[in-house]
Amino acid sequence: MCLDSSARHRLTSIPVLAGCWCLKGGANARSWLWTLRNFSNFWGSEMTFDEYQERAFGTAIYPDLGENIYYPSMGLAAEAGELLNHVKKLMRDRLDLNPVNKYHILSELGDVLWYAAAIATECGEKLSEVAKKNLAKLEARKQRGTIGGSGEER
Ligand SMILES: [Mg+2]
Repeated sequence: MCLDSSARHRLTSIPVLAGCWCLKGGANARSWLWTLRNFSNFWGSEMTFDEYQERAFGTAIYPDLGENIYYPSMGLAAEAGELLNHVKKLMRDRLDLNPVNKYHILSELGDVLWYAAAIATECGEKLSEVAKKNLAKLEARKQRGTIGGSGEER
């Protein structure tokens, strides 16, 4: 599964927008450069979920790597909490979802994705298969008219 060109455009426009916002707001150019550096490897490249999974796991360092479902599962919950903390502060301070705030939220989303990929790897599953099976489940629920409500078996 690849990002389509529209999604890539939205993703790659984040550092540019963030940079404009930083400079207009008087923030130093250093934060813009940091943003550019951290997103620049997205430019002009496409990546499948499976390529991401393989590269991401290549950066994994935790005990019993390859036989440890606990560590990435706890990490996933922790990173989801970090994302939620940014969103919470938007609400608390009545902030707009400006490019800088989007950057922070998307950065945490990337951390969530890393742990999701690690969990898939620990389960011996391709991340693309996880995505396909999730879509199939949701589309079946939609067809049955059970996408609303709760419960895993709908
Ligand atoms: Mg994080």
